[in-house]
Parts: sequence; structure tokens; C-alpha cells
Amino acid sequence: MLTLSGLSKTYKTGDTALADVTLTVPEGQILGLIGPSGAGKSTLIRCINRLVEPTAGEVTLGKVNLVGLGKSELRRQRRRIGMIFQEYALVERLTVMENVLSGRLGYVPFWRSFLRKYPGADVQRAYQLLDRVGLIDHADKRADALSGGQRQRVGIARALAQDPELLLVDEPTASLDPKTSRQIMRLLTEICAERGLPAIVNIHDVPLAQQFMQRIVGLRAGRVVFDGSPDELTEAT
Ligand code: ADP
Ligand code: ADP
Repeated sequence: MLTLSGLSKTYKTGDTALADVTLTVPEGQILGLIGPSGAGKSTLIRCINRLVEPTAGEVTLGKVNLVGLGKSELRRQRRRIGMIFQEYALVERLTVMENVLSGRLGYVPFWRSFLRKYPGADVQRAYQLLDRVGLIDHADKRADALSGGQRQRVGIARALAQDPELLLVDEPTASLDPKTSRQIMRLLTEICAERGLPAIVNIHDVPLAQQFMQRIVGLRAGRVVFDGSPDELTEAT
């Protein structure tokens, strides 16, 4: 379970991106964050893994408050959080398999022959994940040979490879066409449901959020202005 309490962020420029956000994401819940550009969605996601340092408030994952942790403890705690990005953030010159394993390792392998040296159990698990995301036949292709949708599938498999307790997903379909976007959202939400894995998905596309998210939180000027089911959102707008 993830709890944000009194989370606030004011940047050095004086911009207040988050103002006293409190919310709880229970096990297995898939939460979509919506709101206009500048509402604070990516700041919220980045405060959770402390890519952005909150000005005030707490981020509690399980029993650990991630705010205030020192560097080495933070590095360890971040392994509990899987990240999926808009632009995939794959290492283009590495293979699909190598990219997925980098999630398991926690770093990008820089020697090409590392697959041969790597523990078989982890490689096998990476193959299982590639099978689940529909890329088993592409394991040895370089990432730069893939389409956008395929890249995001690799991004999903890589995030899962670290066995996260929480997924943070930042605009996963913003670079994809509508059909591929729906396929990716379906895959992502099915996998989360299978594993009981909670996720926060920053999603600009409101109809897509309504179709796939269990709960929707609307942000505006750094505050929560809506928190409810997709049906309730339709009634409110
Ligand atoms: P636009 O920039 O097109 O005028 P807005 O900035 O008002 O749209 O909002 C962007 C998106 O966020 C819209 O699709 C809208 O449905 C959604 N949205 C805006 N405000 C809320 C809110 N209070 N609760 C839920 N969703 C909202
Ligand atoms: P969203 O993801 O909903 O578009 P952001 O979290 O990116 O919103 O931005 C929220 C507010 O914080 C905006 O006013 C934006 O200009 C400001 N902001 C975001 N990142 C920075 C930054 N690194 N430095 C200063 N201001 C920032």
C-alpha cells in the first residue's frame, strides 16, 4: 500500500506544483492521474520515487517513509518501485533481452556477452516476462529495431523484472497511435490485475483513463479536484 500525506512541492522558481496532496493507493489498485498540463501530475509521480524532492509531506510505501531517507537506503527502496516512461527509456543498442535484464540487475550491462555469464534463473524469468508481453520472438533484436508499441512492451517487462511492489507509469501511450495505446493499456492493466500490483498511471487522455483505470484522481493546480470511479467522472464533467 502507498500513502501520500500532505505532499507538497514548491520549485525554486516559486511554482507550487503540489499543494497538500493526501491519498492512499491500496494493493492491486490501478489509479489514473488526470488533469490539464501543468496540474502537477509528473511532479507527483516524481516525488514518489524522489526524483523530485518534496517540500513537505510523507510518501509511505508499506511501512517505509521514503522522504528523508539517505542515499544508499533510498537506492535500495527504489528497487521496490517499477518505472515505465513515455519515451520508453530503453538502451537502443542493447537487445530486448538485455534491456529486460537491466531491470533485474538495477543497472545497464555494458558488456555485450553478459547474457552468457548471467544466472540462468534470471534469464529464464526474463523470457517468461517477454512471453507475457508478446515479445518472445524478439528477444535477440536490438531495441532500436522495434516499433513504439513493442518498445513499450519491453518497458513493461523491464519494470516487472525487478519484482516491484508498485508501478509508476508516466504517460505510457503519449507517443503511440490510438489503437496501440489501447493495446498497451489493456496489457498493463491485465498484468497489474494478475499480480495484484498497484499502479499510478499519469495519463493525459481522459477517455483512455475512463476505459482502463479503476480509480481516477484529477489534479488541478497541484490539488486533488476529483477522486472517484470512471463513472463518477463522467457524471462530474
Ligand atoms: P482544456 O485545456 O482542453 O480546456 P482542461 O485543462 O479543462 O481542458 O482539462 C484537461 C483534461 O482534464 C480534460 O479532458 C478534462 O476532462 C480533465 N479535467 C479537467 N478538470 C478536471 C476535474 N476537475 N476533474 C476531472 N477531470 C478534469
Ligand atoms: P503536469 O505533469 O501535470 O503537466 P508538472 O508536474 O510537470 O505538471 O508541473 C506542475 C507545475 O510545476 C507547473 O507549473 C510547472 O511549470 C512546474 N514545474 C515542473 N517542473 C519544474 C521544474 N523542474 N522547475 C520549476 N518548475 C517546474
